[in-house]
Amino acid sequence: MHITEINSEQIEELKKHVEINEQGHIITKKLHDKKGPYGSSVGAKAKVGSRRGSKTKYGQIFTYNFLGEFGKLVCKARDIVWILANGPIDANMTVYPIDGDVFNDRIENLALKKRNNGRRPGSKDVNKRTTNRLGLTKKELATALRMKKSGATWREISETMGYSVDCIKNWVKKDEKYKPALNWSHLTNTKEYDTENIEDESGIYCIAMCANRTGCSKFYIGSTISTKTRIEQHIRELKTNCHYNSDFQELYNSGMKIRAFLLEACSESELLETEERIRGQYCEGSLINKNRAVLLDEIRPWLEKARHRFTKNKYTIDKETDCWEWNVLDASKGYGNQIGVSIKLVQKSILPHRLSYYIHKGEYPPLLRHKCDNKSCVNPDHLESGSHRQNGLDRSRDFRKDFEYWWLEYSRDIKKLTEHFCWNSTGAALKWERELGLREKYPEIYWENSKYMSPEEKQKQFAKKRAKREKERLRQRRLKTIKNEIINIKKRYSGASQEVIAAYFKIKKSDVAKITKGVTSSFEDLWNRKEMVDVLEYFNSIDAFIRSASKAQLEGAINRFPHLEKQIKNYVPDVFYRRDHEQFTTFFSEFIENKKKQKASI
Ligand SMILES: [Zn+2]
Repeated sequence: MHITEINSEQIEELKKHVEINEQGHIITKKLHDKKGPYGSSVGAKAKVGSRRGSKTKYGQIFTYNFLGEFGKLVCKARDIVWILANGPIDANMTVYPIDGDVFNDRIENLALKKRNNGRRPGSKDVNKRTTNRLGLTKKELATALRMKKSGATWREISETMGYSVDCIKNWVKKDEKYKPALNWSHLTNTKEYDTENIEDESGIYCIAMCANRTGCSKFYIGSTISTKTRIEQHIRELKTNCHYNSDFQELYNSGMKIRAFLLEACSESELLETEERIRGQYCEGSLINKNRAVLLDEIRPWLEKARHRFTKNKYTIDKETDCWEWNVLDASKGYGNQIGVSIKLVQKSILPHRLSYYIHKGEYPPLLRHKCDNKSCVNPDHLESGSHRQNGLDRSRDFRKDFEYWWLEYSRDIKKLTEHFCWNSTGAALKWERELGLREKYPEIYWENSKYMSPEEKQKQFAKKRAKREKERLRQRRLKTIKNEIINIKKRYSGASQEVIAAYFKIKKSDVAKITKGVTSSFEDLWNRKEMVDVLEYFNSIDAFIRSASKAQLEGAINRFPHLEKQIKNYVPDVFYRRDHEQFTTFFSEFIENKKKQKASI
């Protein structure tokens, strides 16, 4: 057990068996009378009265066997001196001699300080070390390895990580995952071909692209049964700017020179294994063809083994398109699920459409294209071989044609187009529509199916709106002019409903309602108006007013109360406007008659 784990009970036990003298030495008081767990004696071993502890470079070491599960305590003598005087020590603290003499265990020479977990004072945690001498952290090492694998030079890594080149080299090379980049020193003992006259051999070849003697170089590793044919093919394709590997083509186009080597000669049957082994020795960063195209010769045995697994129940034939759709699909890529075949523990995954092409056409081209644009299709007639470059060109050309076709077919339904081309958002369809100028090419289709209005349509809409506004303006103006007339009619003809007034003026019932709101023809209402009090006083009573309200008298009243002229005329418009409303009187009686007739007929 550790000294910091000791508790007060154990301290009491210690006190029974040991004591500290003036020099700070631990003296044994008495022995346990029981035996320890391993047959040893329990407690202090030395004779009573003798000094305890053994000398080490860190000071006196004290050993004590507790009874029971606590077991053996091994600690520095000064710890015991401190504990017996001051009680238990915190796990973070340690006892140290103030004057630096590790053998001076007198209590006045001891003090507590913070424990530094066994490292030198001032040394940092492994993950926080920053100086070159202490090495890279795991994370930094992983970063350096990753950079090296992706083809970075030592100097580039050194600059990114902030360590010296030597430091980076030392630590990265020590790691088991490290693989050296293929370089000229690896090629010193290999046979170099004269690119004008290549020998015909079977084996692993290497094409080096070199800028100059000191500059950085990249290498292409491949296997073939005929170096002459294969290397010549590479050079021919590079020269005509149609190599399937665009990185390779780019390096060649940048003016690098070609040198060809034979890394290892081997028979046809060993080609694959040898190539795997050689590739495995070098870091991928130095290679041009990281994912090389698999040749038919290499994969033929696996294809033959998988042949019987291509059966009719594995796919469904679409009657419309004649596509043979593979039943089990790789959800992420849309191709049929790969068929796993292993020969002598070497596992290969074969895509079903490639297997189909091999079975029916006997070929395994580096690139297979779906003419039917259906990735799950395994119909060999829907497949054709091509180079990567050709594929790229075809795709762009075909796509443009294809997009225009479907744009017309769906009559510019962006949603359907997005679905058809399996895009995530409608942005792509809109982009292509703009890029191919389809809006300008087919304006009718575009404007008809666009959520925006065509310029002509916009103008039409605008004119319509303007006409509507003008009509409304005229209506409001007319309502304003006939407002008084309506109010007067409403007042005079107590039976004149909104309906008949609206019919007479040929306006809406709601407008009549709006204008005649609060207008009434009853005399009770007039009674409530203060201005009329004077008029009524003049006529003595309301009855007198009604009876005597001849035009002449009213005119007299107006003469007497000129400021009430308007009100009087309004209250009793019948008298003043009778002549003006003859037309309405006739219309009104006719309207009522018609209504009665209609009711009777029902
Ligand atoms: Zn198809």
